[in-house]
Amino acid sequence: MTGICEPYIVDYLRGLYSDQDPFLLSLEEYAARYEVPIIERESLALLELMVSLKNPKRILEIGTAIGYSTIAMAKISSDVIIDTIDIDEENLSVAQLNIAEAGYDNRIFLHYGDASDVLDNLKEKYDMVFIDAAKSHYREYFDKCLNLINDNALIISDNVLFKGLIANDELVNRRARTLVRAMRNYLEFLTHTNGLSTAVLPVGDGVAITKIDLKKLEIELERK
Ligand code: MG
Repeated sequence: MTGICEPYIVDYLRGLYSDQDPFLLSLEEYAARYEVPIIERESLALLELMVSLKNPKRILEIGTAIGYSTIAMAKISSDVIIDTIDIDEENLSVAQLNIAEAGYDNRIFLHYGDASDVLDNLKEKYDMVFIDAAKSHYREYFDKCLNLINDNALIISDNVLFKGLIANDELVNRRARTLVRAMRNYLEFLTHTNGLSTAVLPVGDGVAITKIDLKKLEIELERK
């Protein structure tokens, strides 16, 4: 149950992917057992497709968890290099083991720390960014990524509908209010800014796919 699609649809979609890649399946089982949030299987299919269409040289991932989506992206493209950031030391050490076991430790690089700080210190340029970390900070991550991306890069944001809360005031309790306000502002920005082309999709927990025209965006941001 994601709170976005009817449960029977979610079950059906997950059934379609349930017999693929034993290693990723073992990570799904680990995540379920230890309650580590990982991307929904149907959203992962979309992410994998985007990697395969974009064919990026370098991907930046904000939110490694146990390396599930990281490994899945590395599998799609045999020479893509991935930098991935997480603030949870325990998860990151599990991710490191998983990445080594999958044989990708030569092209997946782990960065420990608060994403806001790590983003200030990265020097590479990326063709694709996957944002899947602290949900109230997506706009901040996005803005910092603008210095780190090539023109026409894709920024993919996960959990943008957050269990449906983003679209329904009645579901929002006091604790979630800050997160919901931040995410609504973020989606408003993604869909109403010259230079950004965004599709917000009700798949998994909500995924936004944004293509960035850096020149148009620069003009737009200077105007504001
Ligand atoms: Mg997620």
